[in-house]
Amino acid sequence: MVVLVINCGSSSVKFALFSGDRTAARGMVERIGSHDASGHLDLPGSSRIALPVPSGADHASALGSVLAALRAHPDLASLEITAIGHRVVHGGDRFSSPTLITPQVLAEIRDLAPLAPSHALANATGIDAATRVFPGVPQVAVFDTAFHQSIPPEVYHYALPPEFHREHRVRRYGFHGTSHAWVAARAVETLGLPEDKHRLLTAHLGNGCSATAILDGKSVDTTMGLTPLEGLVMGTRSGNVDPNLHSYLHRRTGMSLDEITDLLNHRSGLTGVAGVNDMRHLAELHAQGDPTACLAIDLFTFRLARELCGLCAALGGRPDAIVFTGGIGENSPLIRAETIARLSVLSTTLDPVLNAVHGRDSRGRISPEITTPVVLVIPTNEELAIATETRRLTTVP
Ligand code: ADP
Repeated sequence: MVVLVINCGSSSVKFALFSGDRTAARGMVERIGSHDASGHLDLPGSSRIALPVPSGADHASALGSVLAALRAHPDLASLEITAIGHRVVHGGDRFSSPTLITPQVLAEIRDLAPLAPSHALANATGIDAATRVFPGVPQVAVFDTAFHQSIPPEVYHYALPPEFHREHRVRRYGFHGTSHAWVAARAVETLGLPEDKHRLLTAHLGNGCSATAILDGKSVDTTMGLTPLEGLVMGTRSGNVDPNLHSYLHRRTGMSLDEITDLLNHRSGLTGVAGVNDMRHLAELHAQGDPTACLAIDLFTFRLARELCGLCAALGGRPDAIVFTGGIGENSPLIRAETIARLSVLSTTLDPVLNAVHGRDSRGRISPEITTPVVLVIPTNEELAIATETRRLTTVP
């Protein structure tokens, strides 16, 4: 079975083509809608191929270019796409699992757009475009929020009058669910834990960052909330700030609501503190003793450690394992070491040699053999997770 996975952002389309569990191709189209839209296609073991994307291409013509390139490549031409899986950012409290897309489901995804305006509309546009480019091929929506629909009321409610939840859907939803669920399942397999009896903390640290408490296979708390701004310090997002900050800054500086929202989402976090988003660069500056890079890394790791401790309240005890994933979680020994050093309350330690090589020769383990919680590095694979769910929903048993 050949599954195309599509991740539509407001101005980009990322895609991956799977033949069974094998990645046959990956790529992206960037700057959709602008005159310098461009794209590329990567095949395992081959050099990058540029995609001819028309200037000003919209999502449909970008997908058309992708399809034409897949069909034209001699190694891919024979692969008939049998299903399409879409990453959809917001499923509200309507979708708690991957769902076969029908006109009704697409209308409900659109109806949730106020919760994540730029993402949800891009996702719906991607589904529309794929329907035009691949008529008759079944499509599945895999929601970033779905895995967290198991979190209990005392965790998902904000302490607000009930009409804000009832009428405006204000509650905590959580994101990165596909990634947290994927690495948690791999951790359970690797450690041989019972599927229905385990306690895990997972930290997805990429450009966006979130941590989740997983009890017996279910998400019971997570750091992101109504939107992906809540929680940890991220590449450009502040994470938690005092909720009065908006009104304070508005009164003090005259900044508008939109300008402050932009500040917190796009000009804060690591970028705001140190002027650098890329963790590789920050780690170099940290090694040279650069004070703002050191502060940014201290803020990042302290907040992460504090949230990981807080998530233990939902687990009801010490975790069996702490899992690092995402671009930073998988590749930064520094961030893992600084975070774990702040978690002595959980009796957690690292093996520095295993940490330096990301647990490559120890099935992801970077803590000494006999200690618990075990600390693991597990690469996420959101595209393969989406392809797997898409296959499950579109295969007739
Ligand atoms: P996204 O959330 O966009 O999927 P990624 O999961 O790819 O992001 O993570 C991007 C982050 O990973 C960036 O901060 C980047 O600096 C960091 N990163 C990637 N490789 C390394 C590395 N070798 N060492 C440290 N950080 C890394």
